[in-house]
Amino acid sequence: MKKAKKLEELTWEDVEREEEGIIIIPVGSVEQHGRHLPLGTDSMVAIAIAEEASARTGVPVAPPLWYGWSPHHMVLPGTVNIRPEVLEELLYDIIASLSEHGFKHFVVVNGHRVVNIPWIQLAAYRAKEDLNVNVYIFDPAFASKELKLGRMGHAEEIETSQMMVIRPDLVRKDKIVDSLVKEEFLYHVDPSDPRDTLCYLPSRERMEELAKESGGVNGTPSKSSLELGRKYHEHVVSRLVELIEHIKGVR
Ligand SMILES: [Zn+2]
Repeated sequence: MKKAKKLEELTWEDVEREEEGIIIIPVGSVEQHGRHLPLGTDSMVAIAIAEEASARTGVPVAPPLWYGWSPHHMVLPGTVNIRPEVLEELLYDIIASLSEHGFKHFVVVNGHRVVNIPWIQLAAYRAKEDLNVNVYIFDPAFASKELKLGRMGHAEEIETSQMMVIRPDLVRKDKIVDSLVKEEFLYHVDPSDPRDTLCYLPSRERMEELAKESGGVNGTPSKSSLELGRKYHEHVVSRLVELIEHIKGVR
């Protein structure tokens, strides 16, 4: 299988030879993922998707933004919360730097779901206006809607199954604890859920409950499987490849 083209492994001459002007930037988080998944799950997932798409398309992938906005997960140790305005500035500067060197199309792959979206949107909009570049926000939750996997939670079967594919060595199956996703007033976590009428707001109170109940899990990771992980991962990677091929076609 072809290898990912990582920006940090290229020389400046390699970058100068890049003709398509497209680059992928994975972003994730370092936050608690229950007792059975590692803190870096969101970043690892974004990196795996981005690197696989890079290998298949030949488009380079920039070093990831490991940290995300995770105020609600601070109730459990190891979580690192970066203020969204800092993340916005950081992503903007990465795009600004690379746009000086000929990159025009930036594909941001988000592994931290809806919580990272607001600051990515702000950075992307500013970059588009100021730098005359295109920024595409690729979010696996949106890219996998047609699989109808049911409600998203946290450290549930979708994340756990995908980690079984990309980092099976880090999934502690003996530590899996379920926690039934609670029906909340007008809000059901999953944007594809027709009942979801309120936008997401990170909640420290809710996470405190979940920490006591399940060690930070929201959902049923006991339903995880390698088959589900393969199906989901392959679907998301192929949607990202499709987007990159589309950009190549219209640029
Ligand atoms: Zn996660």
